[in-house]
Amino acid sequence: MNAKKIKILSISVFVILIVITGYSTVYGRLVPYSPVIVGFEQKIYKRATVYYHKGYNLPSLEDVDELIDENEKIHRLKYKRKVDIILCESDQEKKRITGSLTRAQSFPFLGRIVFSRKVQDEATANEKRFGMYLQHELSHSLTQQNLSLFGTFTFPAWLNEGIAVYSSDQFGKAGYFTQREVSEHLSKDIFFHPYWWPQPLQQAPIESKKFKLKDKYYFIYSEFGCIVDDLINTYGHDRFIVYYHQLLQNKDSKDVFLDVFDISFFDYLNEFKTRMVSKLS
Ligand SMILES: [Zn+2]
Repeated sequence: MNAKKIKILSISVFVILIVITGYSTVYGRLVPYSPVIVGFEQKIYKRATVYYHKGYNLPSLEDVDELIDENEKIHRLKYKRKVDIILCESDQEKKRITGSLTRAQSFPFLGRIVFSRKVQDEATANEKRFGMYLQHELSHSLTQQNLSLFGTFTFPAWLNEGIAVYSSDQFGKAGYFTQREVSEHLSKDIFFHPYWWPQPLQQAPIESKKFKLKDKYYFIYSEFGCIVDDLINTYGHDRFIVYYHQLLQNKDSKDVFLDVFDISFFDYLNEFKTRMVSKLS
């Protein structure tokens, strides 16, 4: 290949990359991180901006500022920027932007939240409360806005979910287990170790093979919420917050746990199971 052909090839590759990146930023997978969001209407709240499509039946978002204030109190942490909330008009749009069909997701760095059409339809049909999902995602958004690039990869995924379930009080709502139901399953030796999350269940360690529970994802989330609730009830909100905030600073989660709670995470989990099961009697 002569120098001219190499030059033409290099320029072509460069242009293709620019086009792909530009498309992804405006319409595709980079939308959650993009500096601009195009193709949406905007509704501005004091502490959030909601992106939606015209002529669209919006779920009730009037309490979004209150939910944001409330989350700051529970997490004892401040949002670093206004929260962007993107409401997709179809599940295909959600898949195009996020690569996933899950009900809702919050993304690192900007803490931007994307909702599927499904969760909004469920809300307008009064099947499931939108506010609960919103508060769950606002918890993730708050954590993500306060994490460094490195911390995004090291912050324990189970804790991220546990705090979100606890702060939005999802127990016993919209498919999530009550704390008593979690205790009943723990008493039957059904337990999902927090460190297995977020591996797909089939790749999680061997113990998960007996994990054939229906609605397993609801159980796992509810169990993580119970762990956060138990940590707060056993050691106090102040100590829990020290643990949470130290983990936001990229510290080793096992060391921080031992340091803050004076017990290893392994030993704590055994005590957690015993405490939960004892509540049944
Ligand atoms: Zn979540």
